[in-house]
Amino acid sequence: MSRNIKLCHPRLQELAGKLVSECAKQGLIVKLGECFRSVEEQNALYAKGRITSGNIVTYADGSSYSSMHQWGVAFDVIRNDGKGAYYDNDGWFSKVGAIGKRLGLEWGGDWVSPVDKPHFQLPDWGSTPTKLKRLYGNVNNFKKTWEVDDMTEAEVIKIARKEANDMVYRYVDRVYNRVFEIPDWGRPTVEKLIDKGILRGNENGLYISETLLRVLVINDRAGLYD
Ligand SMILES: [Zn+2]
Repeated sequence: MSRNIKLCHPRLQELAGKLVSECAKQGLIVKLGECFRSVEEQNALYAKGRITSGNIVTYADGSSYSSMHQWGVAFDVIRNDGKGAYYDNDGWFSKVGAIGKRLGLEWGGDWVSPVDKPHFQLPDWGSTPTKLKRLYGNVNNFKKTWEVDDMTEAEVIKIARKEANDMVYRYVDRVYNRVFEIPDWGRPTVEKLIDKGILRGNENGLYISETLLRVLVINDRAGLYD
């Protein structure tokens, strides 16, 4: 089993961190227990009491993706104040459950069968993996959507690209190919130069850049073409 919350959905990671710190403020020392469970790990659990020794602990094999832990949207908590990982005679788990619910998590302690007080999950897809299975089939497909929650980097790249584009656009000289395209302040100069046979352009037209147009107009005003 994996206690690495980093393998879970980004929003679950955030909420797990908040739960631990909110609980600590109230003297409830919470440690994260099982978080993400791989197909292999679920298969190993399924084998218990079937292929390996011990009692049967689950009816779900790994490929059925029947545990929310396999979808990276659930974690379990453990009591970590020395009284015992699951000691609950003082209602410790219900206090933690109430804080988790206030943060927006679904709490397994609210379930009827089985009541699962150490369990928390994201509420978005319902209590069971039915909807996730229908939508994504397996956890790898589901993970592709996790990026959507983490738009920061993608947004930054998008904005940076647009900035770069705008900058290039600003620095690219506009080119005029037809007389009617030329702004009023430059047209008399261009007409004069065409009349005199000085300006001929190329196969595309006049091919006068904005910068060149300014130079021509300044020269014209200085009387160079008279
Ligand atoms: Zn659980």
